[in-house]
Amino acid sequence: LNRRLAGFGTTIFAAMSALAVRTGAINLGQGFPDTDGPEEVREAAVRALRAGHGNQYPPGPGVPELRAAIAEHQQRFYDLAFDPGTEVLVTAGATEAIAASMLALLEPGDEVIALEPYYDSYAACIAMAGATRVPVTLHPEPSTGTYRLDLAELRAAVTPRTRLLLLNTPHNPTGTVLTREELTAIAELACERDLLVVTDEVYEHLVFEGEHLPIAAFPGMRERTVTIGSAGKTFSFTGWKVGWVTANGPLVSAVRTAKQYLTYVSAGPFQYAVAEALRLPDSYFDGFRADLQRKRDLLADGLRAAGFEVYRPQGTYFITTDITPFGEKDAYAFCRALPERCGVVAIPNSVFYDDPDISRSQVRFTFCKKDDVLHEATGRLSRLT
Ligand code: PMP
Ligand code: GLN
Repeated sequence: LNRRLAGFGTTIFAAMSALAVRTGAINLGQGFPDTDGPEEVREAAVRALRAGHGNQYPPGPGVPELRAAIAEHQQRFYDLAFDPGTEVLVTAGATEAIAASMLALLEPGDEVIALEPYYDSYAACIAMAGATRVPVTLHPEPSTGTYRLDLAELRAAVTPRTRLLLLNTPHNPTGTVLTREELTAIAELACERDLLVVTDEVYEHLVFEGEHLPIAAFPGMRERTVTIGSAGKTFSFTGWKVGWVTANGPLVSAVRTAKQYLTYVSAGPFQYAVAEALRLPDSYFDGFRADLQRKRDLLADGLRAAGFEVYRPQGTYFITTDITPFGEKDAYAFCRALPERCGVVAIPNSVFYDDPDISRSQVRFTFCKKDDVLHEATGRLSRLT
């Protein structure tokens, strides 16, 4: 393994899911639903496969049906217009969109500001591009029980070497949803310092409080923003690995250049199915959100009753908790022992920080699971002593 990737061994999600399989524990670690997305979308994939739509290399930027549906989706939900011919790119999940963006847009030595805790692939992709990550840490705010960005700290982190802000809203793992005021300030900073913004909005349809505002819609941002979405998250088909990028022509063209040499094209038949999914009526998106909101409350209440300190996520399907009430401080050790102690798997938030000491005692649970699984898990956790 080269020096750029030293320390990136096995992702925490693979490690913890393997632990869940080995021990038979309930897996509230890795974020993947235990119920597939809409039946009609699954059927659309079968139909595409049978009809031979996409069984051979589809077009590099994505099949035209899907690119059109992505552009329509951005228009329908955010009033953002993108040309499906030149301003939309289909990727192998949001993961490839992140990697291709970093590889295409960064020079070695550039600095990338990322909100910390950060999703694990950000650090690895920034490193693969030979750039340097500069974390700006979200802080727990006791009055609201949420994590917030300190705009002065963000501003102070910008240097002459800063090329790009890597945002994530709704934010994994804290559940923070950036507000209009925060996004306005970030947009002003990006324009003032001439920064690119890559924004990971894969949880755009899972906002329970406030609203999802794409930073691309803020003044001056459309021409400097790469927005990333994922069918894995929005339609509960994480195994299909269909994601996308919307941006202006030159940025999409740059990201597409990198994508060509990573995967060349993305798997074909699923793209037709996702095109149909993106055109589902509002009732799908509303129902999805309402269902997950109910699950959030179910898990939050259960964790609180079990003795955890619970931070309140405004979005995503994750809850960050603190284990200090159990008299424990080392979340990593806690999570390694949890399957043995009570048959549940969770993720220690320390893996999402440069300095793990910042979040020694924080643990993330996902709630994208069936209600009876969440009940069983919180029941088990309530027997922790
Ligand atoms: N970004 C964030 C914040 C995520 O949580 C995930 C999913 N784990 C991804 C990107 C990757 O998405 P995909 O599965 O579409 O590659
Ligand atoms: N995004 C998911 C999570 O945060 C996991 C995806 C992955 O394993 N790469 O749990």
